[in-house]
Amino acid sequence: MRRQHHTPQRHTALGSGSEFDMIRDLARRWGRAARGLGDDAAILETPPGQQLVVSTDTSVEEVHFRRRWLTSGEIGYRSAMAALSDLAAMGARPLGMTVVLALPLEWMQDVGPLADGIGEAARDVACPVIGGDLSRSEKLHCTFTVLGSSARPVLRSGAKEGDTVYVTGHLGGPGAALRGLSAGKDPAPLARDRFARPVARIREGSWIAEHGANAMIDLSDGLVSDAEHMAAASGVRLTIDLDRLPLLQGCAARDAARSGEEYELLFTAAADVDANEFTRTFGLALTAIGHVDALVGEDRVVLTSHGKRVDLEKGYDHFSR
Ligand SMILES: [Mg+2]
Repeated sequence: MRRQHHTPQRHTALGSGSEFDMIRDLARRWGRAARGLGDDAAILETPPGQQLVVSTDTSVEEVHFRRRWLTSGEIGYRSAMAALSDLAAMGARPLGMTVVLALPLEWMQDVGPLADGIGEAARDVACPVIGGDLSRSEKLHCTFTVLGSSARPVLRSGAKEGDTVYVTGHLGGPGAALRGLSAGKDPAPLARDRFARPVARIREGSWIAEHGANAMIDLSDGLVSDAEHMAAASGVRLTIDLDRLPLLQGCAARDAARSGEEYELLFTAAADVDANEFTRTFGLALTAIGHVDALVGEDRVVLTSHGKRVDLEKGYDHFSR
């Protein structure tokens, strides 16, 4: 039986003041999606034999999203999911997350819906909010530190020659939505939904870790860029067949290969992974899209179509000019 007495489940009573009023309101909105708020620090227990897995991720207005493209609830939901996706990428199960909201004055009246989106994400992947901080700011920043645990975390550096490359889900939605929104058009509902409400593949990531993945990464920058991160970390070359990419309805392979913020999982494994069992379990596609070779020359990622090499531009880079 797990010991509970070191892990406070209820919130600590808060003192007076407008910041604490706001925290009280957030805790009330989050309900059971938050746990043990109000002390100086949160206390967690890691399951015996498992390692603590920690990641932090920030979403900034006008860098990661435009307010006019999304509801406040969607901004909260996708910011939290983007952070949680890094736990999925390691094959870790969530233990809890802390939330930092840095708010401009004009966001004050929308903090409720923003928090509701965060609470919904927390509930969807069973990762309670266990603490955080509030601050004033020029632009909205939502920063999440996510904590999880795993008996065998999967790194991006483990891809080996001879592995098969797999990807979850269907790609292209967020890229298509962004192109539409940037051009002032309404994106197709399916594409918009993939952009506005991405889902961290937490349970899927654990399953993949338990079924022999050698390397894994989540698709935040886009398939080509993230494949390159994995290839660089692993010291190998990834060859991806564009004709095999699983595409969201209406999306083209070349666009899907560059579509960022998918939050699907890219992984490699030596043995065949049972895609049918995966799909039966999660209702999500799992597709073999390529293979891992020894690194020859400088090309870490090779894209092919109809057996021929194809060149594409890369995905999103915050620091590119
Ligand atoms: Mg990541």
